[in-house]
Amino acid sequence: MFIETRGNDSIKPQRAPFSYAILNPSASFGGLYVPETLPHIDSTFLEKTTHKSYKELTIDILKMFKIDIEEDVLEKAVSLYDRFDNANDPAPLVQIKEDLFVNELFHGPTRAFKDMALQPFGHILSHLAKKKQEDYLILAATSGDTGPATLDTFANKENIRVVCLYPDGGTSDVQRLQMTTQTSPNLKIIGIHGNFDDAQNALKTLLASKSFNEELTKLDIKLSAANSVNFGRIIFQIIYHIHAYIALLKQNKVEIGKPFYTIVPSGNFGNALGAYYAKKMGLPIEKILIASNINNILTDLINTGIYDLRERKLLQTTSPAMDILISSNVERVLYDKFGSKRTKELMDALRDEKIYQLTPLELASLREDFDAVSCDDDFAKHTIASFAKENYVMDPHTATCLKAYELLKKKNIPCVLCSTAEWTKFAPTMFNAIQNDTVKYSDKEALDGFSKALHVKIPECIDALFSQPIIHDKVVDKAHIEAEIFAFLEAKS
Ligand SMILES: *Cc1c(COP(=O)(O)O)cnc(C)c1O
Repeated sequence: MFIETRGNDSIKPQRAPFSYAILNPSASFGGLYVPETLPHIDSTFLEKTTHKSYKELTIDILKMFKIDIEEDVLEKAVSLYDRFDNANDPAPLVQIKEDLFVNELFHGPTRAFKDMALQPFGHILSHLAKKKQEDYLILAATSGDTGPATLDTFANKENIRVVCLYPDGGTSDVQRLQMTTQTSPNLKIIGIHGNFDDAQNALKTLLASKSFNEELTKLDIKLSAANSVNFGRIIFQIIYHIHAYIALLKQNKVEIGKPFYTIVPSGNFGNALGAYYAKKMGLPIEKILIASNINNILTDLINTGIYDLRERKLLQTTSPAMDILISSNVERVLYDKFGSKRTKELMDALRDEKIYQLTPLELASLREDFDAVSCDDDFAKHTIASFAKENYVMDPHTATCLKAYELLKKKNIPCVLCSTAEWTKFAPTMFNAIQNDTVKYSDKEALDGFSKALHVKIPECIDALFSQPIIHDKVVDKAHIEAEIFAFLEAKS
């Protein structure tokens, strides 16, 4: 069963099953749902699992959570890993140094790690909506990776419609085309004049608007969310951390039970939270090392115990999926360590005073599991170039992890770095890095240039984007979003 991070308001259920928590992801007082207990994995479990495929491991773990989803639905959900480059190994672990391994999480249909969770999650959510004979609208605002992955998983799914807002000019060409060329009739993509913050604020305003919600009720449409506050995504993000350890065991790089580090390039902290839960479940993670870019709010929290938004402005970097100030999933760690009363106090302070501060004891507790460092664009660029010379291609988000590897890894044990995107999604940055220039290439020029220079292939799904017709060409002012959404919903219903 699932409980709430900020306590219960006596209106929402005190405890809810998984199906409820994923269809209605916002809990009392603006909190989140968390599992009441976590299953335990031990050496016996890990040993038994070394022979299993990724999909079998996933089913085993999901069953241990005892969620209220039938096994055949889970089977169908994990069969979506068949869409990855290698169905038997959707998340390969690649060694790049004596003690450094890359957990490549980007081999799914949209070439970012969001697919690892969103692919199976999309099937489960649509199944639940259909079973309840309810229609759901999912509103998403994206800075680039969430949008394509959300649209891809819900394309042509029953009982779900998705409206996705993106900042016009704020995403890479590849990311924009992954959205605007979508043909499925249950998807609507709208460009916004403004930046990602504007898109996200527009969405928040809509979600809070009484008239918007009343109009939806009239159309008999309910709202849900597919962002990483939804536990239905987090549950799938626990698994690849466990899988990475099993891969280390299989490759004889670690003895069973012996610890390893993991490094996570973090934004909304979903990936890192998955690692935290895996550690709590018994996976021998020495420490979870958090990599941030110069939007280093997470680094500050983990180093000082202070989360301070007051003087902060979002800075643009070459790792845009980590450009974030409010990192939602940190709340689940706070809850796990300090309970709902304290979590509500801290989150209320963040809302009202734009700052909270942990006590020294609380900070010490946080630092038992996490350490963190931030990395600037220059460091990432040099990292990309130096690994490219050694024939390993890593994207700008993944590259931020090398700083953590150099500065925070204290023990001589294996280290797994989570790679969150394929280079093809950020081709101009990649080409700039290896050319050591600052030319403004188009995505197409940079894809071709980089691919030729390094002899790496561009996957067909990326290459084809440039010749597909644009279906969604609307770019509007914030004020017109609501009208666009209703025009779409009414045309369909
Ligand atoms: C979403 C994303 C991240 C951040 O992941 P969180 O789980 O939100 O911390 C990092 N890198 C890439 C490429 C992403 O798409």
